[in-house]
Amino acid sequence: MTPSTYPLISNETRMGTVEFRVHERAHIVVDDTRCRDCSVRGCVTACPANLFVPTSDGGILFNYEQCFECGTCYMVCNAEGAITWSYPEGGHGVVFHTS
Ligand code: SF4
Ligand code: SF4
Repeated sequence: MTPSTYPLISNETRMGTVEFRVHERAHIVVDDTRCRDCSVRGCVTACPANLFVPTSDGGILFNYEQCFECGTCYMVCNAEGAITWSYPEGGHGVVFHTS
């Protein structure tokens, strides 16, 4: 049996299929003072929207506005309290398109 294959999709194309209704309150907050001792940095490789960017001073730059709300960053973070996670206010957040 031949395994199914799927075409590679660029991050730009993937993000173009999604709409975000951004609320002024960040639903994810990253305390990057806890990131400075983190050697794993799982959030950087695991976030499907590439929203975690390491900075040259050892911190992490994060922007919640294009978040898929998948919760992966919260699951892979290896520092207690570095990520505070909640859902956005009703009517806000990610909206997936089908076309
Ligand atoms: S919830 Fe998912 S998409 Fe949002 S920041 Fe975390 S890993 Fe990235
Ligand atoms: S995994 Fe957690 S502690 Fe490590 S860099 Fe990411 S948010 Fe910071």
